[in-house]
Amino acid sequence: MATTTAPLATPEMIARYEPVIGLEVHCQLQTNTKIFCRCPTSFGAAPNTNVCPVCLGLPGALPVLNQHAVELAIQAALALNCQVRRKSIFARKNYFYPDLPKGYQISQYDRPLAEHGWLEVTVEGVKKRIGVTRVHMEDDAGKSIHDGFKDSGVYSYVDLNRCGTPLIEIVSEPDIRGSEEAYQYMTEIKQVLQFAGVSTCDMEKGHLRCDANVSVRLKGAEKFGTKAEVKNLNSFRFMKQALDYEIARQVALIEGGGRVTQETRLWNTELGETVGMRSKEAAHDYRYFPEPDLVPLEISEAWLGRVKAAMPELPAARRARFVESYGLRDYDAQVLTLSRAISDYYERVAQTSGDPKLAANWVAGELPGLLKADGKEIEESPVPAEKLGELVGLIAKGELTGKLAKEILPKMYATGDSAKTIMEREGLKAMSDTGELEKIIDSVIAANPKQVEQYRGGKTAVMAFFVGQVMKATRGQANPATATGILARKLA
Ligand code: ADP
Ligand code: ZN
Ligand code: MG
Repeated sequence: MATTTAPLATPEMIARYEPVIGLEVHCQLQTNTKIFCRCPTSFGAAPNTNVCPVCLGLPGALPVLNQHAVELAIQAALALNCQVRRKSIFARKNYFYPDLPKGYQISQYDRPLAEHGWLEVTVEGVKKRIGVTRVHMEDDAGKSIHDGFKDSGVYSYVDLNRCGTPLIEIVSEPDIRGSEEAYQYMTEIKQVLQFAGVSTCDMEKGHLRCDANVSVRLKGAEKFGTKAEVKNLNSFRFMKQALDYEIARQVALIEGGGRVTQETRLWNTELGETVGMRSKEAAHDYRYFPEPDLVPLEISEAWLGRVKAAMPELPAARRARFVESYGLRDYDAQVLTLSRAISDYYERVAQTSGDPKLAANWVAGELPGLLKADGKEIEESPVPAEKLGELVGLIAKGELTGKLAKEILPKMYATGDSAKTIMEREGLKAMSDTGELEKIIDSVIAANPKQVEQYRGGKTAVMAFFVGQVMKATRGQANPATATGILARKLA
């Protein structure tokens, strides 16, 4: 592999060009078993244990299509606004690789499951549609593990557990015009597929992978430039870095009088560069032909209807509903629909508390701080939604001040106890007895004659000082608004 650093273009040069990007996204469907056999798809099993004659590609073994995989693929297609073909064809894509024992991948070629879709992205406040060319189904290959040099030899291991894992490939139109747009498109895909329950989209486990096709052209030019394909983009961050690098590399090449060659490149995380891997194979190199062991996939109107009806609510619809029925601001609705887990959690807090707007502040504002410090996702929150809902409900009913609640939440987080249990244990409650509050206020006024004089002399800003003293004397149990009212009356 080359390790020389190619010269990159200056920002001025790059500004004269427009990048053109099309993404090929592979996504693992959330099934329990593989696409053409009944082996489990579970992650992390001992190597070569989740295998059978079908996924090992032994001669004579016959594939049987997994109905659930098809239904998830249809849901993905619908979520991506595609038209689902009534009849699609599986095809063999022939190539050799040590982790592909069949010698071919079962994919779809000229008649894919679905076509003509789109996804909307928002970049710098502007909405834009990215075309989805096609969504097709295919099986995954196994995994090669390269162990480097040992005992004067080079060793590679092959784990075939992943062989036959159900995938969809989502191919975009060359509509993407920069790394940020690509980032937004991937984010949107991930969100939509998670909400639809199609895939966990867990990139660390390889459930979402992306290859990027990149070319550049002078701004205003009509014709696309020659593209290079960048593989191995296994995180959003790497994808963005790789795209920016590749754009700068291509511009420098052209500005230097050279030409971009059509090839497959790999993102090298250590070098922070894309490195040429092989000249790009064309479709005819794969010798595609219809898979003789599988009948065409026919999807009846009735089946399509059932799958459509079973489709979970997608993020855009959920955002709109949050704004409409809970009165949330757009921004909060956006934050609370970032993942299906956070929206489900929020809705349960909203319902238990009876105050959806206040619930939004706690789910989007207070809880994430605690989770972040603890390295936890909302799914793993030690405070279940119902308990946070109870806490928010107590604030809504005036039984707790926001300030007290902020002290109680970390204790709930640490102990798993409910707000009520903690309040009883620590003798905390909002002070609803104004008689008691008046007495405390009287003593605060008596103890601070200098500030009283200042206030009466017109320096009304000292009110904050008095409220602070009252909150301190009541250990935060007073309602600041009530205290301010009483103070104003007594100081007048
Ligand atoms: P190939 O035959 O090389 O696989 P395709 O036409 O099937 O090329 O396109 C593969 C991907 O490359 C698609 O996502 C498409 O949008 C994208 N693409 C096609 N042409 C270009 C180009 N000139 N620049 C960037 N991306 C492109
Ligand atoms: Zn199997
Ligand atoms: Mg192609």
